[in-house]
This record gives sequence, structure tokens and C-alpha cells, in this order.
Amino acid sequence: MSDQAFVTLATNDLYGKGALVLGSSLRNHKTTRQQVVLVSPQVSNNMRAQLGRIFDEVILVDVLDSKDSAHLALIKRPELGVTFTKLHCWALTNYSKCIFMDADTLVLCNIDELFEREELSAAPDPGWPDCFNTGVFVYRPSIETYNELLQFSTEKGSFDGGDQGLLNSFFSNWATADISKHLPFIYNLSSVAVYSYLPAFKHYGADAKVVHFLGNVKPWNCSYNPKTRCVMRDSNDYSSAVHPEFLNMWWDTFTTSVSPLFTEQDIPKETSSDKQEEEKLSEAVSQLSFTPPAPVVSSEERRKKWEQGQADYMGVDSFQNIQKKLDAYLN
Ligand code: UDP
Ligand code: MN
Repeated sequence: MSDQAFVTLATNDLYGKGALVLGSSLRNHKTTRQQVVLVSPQVSNNMRAQLGRIFDEVILVDVLDSKDSAHLALIKRPELGVTFTKLHCWALTNYSKCIFMDADTLVLCNIDELFEREELSAAPDPGWPDCFNTGVFVYRPSIETYNELLQFSTEKGSFDGGDQGLLNSFFSNWATADISKHLPFIYNLSSVAVYSYLPAFKHYGADAKVVHFLGNVKPWNCSYNPKTRCVMRDSNDYSSAVHPEFLNMWWDTFTTSVSPLFTEQDIPKETSSDKQEEEKLSEAVSQLSFTPPAPVVSSEERRKKWEQGQADYMGVDSFQNIQKKLDAYLN
């Protein structure tokens, strides 16, 4: 299976941490395929070295940026222009078939069966299900397709300023042409789905194979308590918006498979005590940035935002808070 690979991308060290967790989760679930990470020059040498311990190939690529601030403003993600860098994955012609996975995804079981699918297979986007979500997709590397994509991006651009708008316009018949190219949602279960269709999540969530921490705050932004092995939750915090089990799983993979890599060359194993383990972990954790909770808004402002479709899903309008309200109402 050396001509098939899982591929991910990191243009900075934070997404690099995501890639390390994703790569470890694929390894832990015993994939028989190769693992490749594309990195841009901004990724530090140290991070590249760590990635090299988990991935079979660490490939340096230049950043492709849509620089489309107008469209990116619509999705409130000014930083996502660089996701055009994903297009480089089509240039990996040493492989005949690949599965691209965002660095903010986590594998919960072996998903090698996805290699039976054809280009371009992907799961529906929870926000607009006639579009596919580009967090997980099956494709065939090809220089021809790569060049066509680059040309398409300069001529037509992307309707959302990121890779997803571009790829959906390029593979424009995905919604209707071939149902076998629609991956089940459990291969790209986004945190959004947990609160946008809670009963379905309760019914099907246990079958999840890949979790996608889609959105502007990522697992590495959450605070984690290594003693209780739980993400610290409060109602104003992003972590309450995502199923806590999934966040804990991400952190569990980080602490058991990734953070030892950062320190084992500094401290020989035989001399490290529990306390040192803890210190190492908090050091690794402190290298992650933390996003402070959003400022408090008045209930009138909040209602206005709801009506404009701008619910604060990561904060006051989080899954946990909505559930609390529903419970109170039903009682
Ligand atoms: N990415 C990156 N650096 C960035 C932004 C994105 O390397 O600054 C890569 C990374 O692999 C990430 C993917 O592009 O998972 C898509 O971005 P993101 O996951 O943040 O988008 P979302 O899934 O939240 O829409
Ligand atoms: Mn993502």
C-alpha cells in the first residue's frame, strides 16, 4: 500500500500540533497507508523534526494564498486564504490515491476503507449540504489536475476565499453526479452538527469515525487539566460547544502520543518522575495559545445576532447552554 497516503497540511506550528495529533491517531488505529504532511517555510525546524517522527514524509511547499479578504470576511475567517496551499496535495504524484485530512481532524478508528472510493469523494458540509466539506476528501494526485486547479484559482477565484469554495466550483457536479462520492457524515463529523441537530447526534454520534474541529477556535486553544484528563469547561468557553468526549480524546492523544515527543530528547526516560511528567506536559500545553472568552453582550444584542444568523455558538449560545434552556423549558 506504499502508493496510497493520508495527507495533511500545516502552515504554522499550531496547525503542526493538530497534524501531530491527527498523525498519531492514524498510527494508533494502525493504518496500513503512508502518512504525508505538507509544511510551509513558517513551520519551525523543531516542529518539522517532530512531524518527521510520526509522518513518513514531511514535504516543504510554498504558501498559496487567495488574498481574497472580501470573501473571507463573509465567513469571518480572514486567515483562511492560506488554505489554497492545500492544492499542492495534487502534486504528490508518487502516490496513486490519497486522502486529504485537515490538521484539525481526529481519527477514532481505522478508516483505510476510504481508499476504495474515487476522486472526488467527500462528506456534505453541515452549513450547505450541496457543497462538500474539504476537511476530509479522497483524490488522485495528478499534475494535470494540479495545473488546472491553479489556473482555475487565478481565473475564477473562490466563492468563500478558501479552498472549499474553490474545490466545490471545480468539482461542481459532486452534489448530483454519483452518490458513491458522498462520504457518510460520520467520516467528517463536525462539532457544528452536535448542536445544529442534537437528536441526530445522539442517535448516530457513537458511530463517528472522524471528528472535525471545524470553526475558528481549535482544540489546542482550550485549556486542559492533565490531572483530571479533562478539558476545563465553563459555559463561556468554546469547549462546551463541542461534545466534551471528543475534545478529551484529542487531548488524550496529545498527552499520550504527542507531548512525549517534545521532551523525551531533553530528559532521559529512566530519570523522569511523575512530577517531571507533569511539568513536561504543562510546558507542552503552555506552548499552545489560549483564546480568551468573548466579551459579554446584552440579551437584546444577542437576540439581534441570533436573528441575523450570527449565533455565538462558541460562547453563550453553546450546545450546553441551549440544552440547559430546553431542559428548563420542558420541565
Ligand atoms: N491551515 C493551515 N494554516 C492556517 C489555516 C489552515 O495550515 O493558518 C490548514 C490546516 O490543515 C487546516 C486546514 O488548512 O486544518 C483548513 O483550515 P481550518 O481547519 O482552520 O478550517 P475549518 O475546517 O475550520 O473551516
Ligand atoms: Mn478544518
